[in-house]
Amino acid sequence: APVILWFRRDLRLADNPALTEAVASGRPVMPLYVLDEAAEGRPLGGASKWWLERSLQALAEALDKAGAPLILKRGPAEAVLRALIEETGAKTVFMNRRFEPAAFAADADIAHALKAEGIECRGFNGSLLARPGSVLTQAEKPYKVFTPFYRALMEAIEPPPARPAPERIAGVKGVASDPLEDWGLYEARPDWAARFDAKAPGEAAASKRLADFIRRDLANYGVMRDRPGKPGTSRLSAALHWGEISPWRVVLDVRAAVEAGTVTEQQAEAFVREIGWREFSAHLLHQFPTLPDRNFQPKFDDFPWRSDGAGLKAWQAGQTGYPMVDAGMRELWTTGWMHNRVRMVVASFLVKHLRIDWREGESWFWDTLIDADLASNSQNWQWVAGSGADAAPYFRIFNPVSQGTKFDADGEYVRRWVPELKKLPDRWLHSPWEAPAEVRADAGVQLGKTYPRPIVDHAEARDAALAAFKSLGNEG
Ligand code: FAD
Repeated sequence: APVILWFRRDLRLADNPALTEAVASGRPVMPLYVLDEAAEGRPLGGASKWWLERSLQALAEALDKAGAPLILKRGPAEAVLRALIEETGAKTVFMNRRFEPAAFAADADIAHALKAEGIECRGFNGSLLARPGSVLTQAEKPYKVFTPFYRALMEAIEPPPARPAPERIAGVKGVASDPLEDWGLYEARPDWAARFDAKAPGEAAASKRLADFIRRDLANYGVMRDRPGKPGTSRLSAALHWGEISPWRVVLDVRAAVEAGTVTEQQAEAFVREIGWREFSAHLLHQFPTLPDRNFQPKFDDFPWRSDGAGLKAWQAGQTGYPMVDAGMRELWTTGWMHNRVRMVVASFLVKHLRIDWREGESWFWDTLIDADLASNSQNWQWVAGSGADAAPYFRIFNPVSQGTKFDADGEYVRRWVPELKKLPDRWLHSPWEAPAEVRADAGVQLGKTYPRPIVDHAEARDAALAAFKSLGNEG
């Protein structure tokens, strides 16, 4: 009987433990992808659907080439699996686990139900350096602070055996599969993703991006990672989310660059630490399932959030009058990605300057980010809001102007995304309202007409945020 290889968020052939084990079973392999949105815990966002559609296309092509066509099915996963088992006599399902609480529970339920009928589900970890729950404090408790977690993680992990992509996979022909187009996964009208990079999704693109990054940018990552105007980061987040590349591949290739002497250990470390934050987020969510929905620190439950529909809309549209914030929000809307430095600035602006609940921002990001990831998104939003496990202290409020002058000193980033300010001299680019009227006139900037006035005053907003925080019984 053939075996089922159930793809989920491991859309790759290399370094894929479930795939390697399925092939090693010596039986014909039926690669399967099931679109079962209900089992995700939360419906996929728009940008995620856009990415998934292309990534599945790339996976299907790679599997076709290897000789085992991908079977696409839509519906409740358990029913789909049962039907396929019935049709083909398969007795084993190989899969890489998902560790988000809802998905994890759904997988466990399916494994349990199938086991009762003699079908074995074999689960592997293909998405994280360490299985959540395997990195604990001496008292066997989850870590809530990043640095000790990271230290323990790095001590605990062992590289997995090499698992190159198989050239041939003995497949099964003739099993019915949905045409991907019929799913209409992403069909927003008007197509707001028209300017997303259509060549970015897929395993081959991810591998190339990693190699290019290591060769070109890794050595300077520690400095350049904070310059949103320059291409200094890996842009691997969506590929890591969808498992087009494994985090181990990333870490091992970086280590190989250290061995080869092309980068120093310290340079590599600045980058691997960020992979560590991804890991920290995933472990935290697994252990604290309410992370996306509830303040990690319950004292924030009484925070006097404002309801401000107009403010929220201005933020989403990149029309707040703060160039750094607006540039970020427009980069997100246009490309489905935003630079990490700017994610922190825009998130802080929403929760502190506008005092809008971080969950509003989290949900906007969820819908618009190509790398939307339940763990990383909620962990980072709570970090910025100050309500998280390991969070920025609330009273550290990002100043969107000085963030701009510091990290986008030459204005390259703002000029790219807020072209109506392009002609303003650097000195006033991040605070156009401070420019003398004649300078603005020369640059063709009319506040309130060609570009908004700031929707809040920074100093006033800052004071109000600190007062709100104090109202929770905190010393400012
Ligand atoms: P690089 O700088 O090249 O980093 C390499 C990898 O490390 C990333 O691909 C990512 O997998 C991981 N990583 C880096 N920074 C973080 C971080 N702070 N937390 C967790 N993992 C990290 N990242 C997501 O993948 N999905 C999200 O939904 C997400 N939401 C965010 C929301 C907010 C408010 C903030 C401040 C950050 C969020 N991040 C999220 C983290 C980070 O901004 C992105 O991972 C990063 O910008 C992706 O670009 P890159 O691949 O070039 O990163």
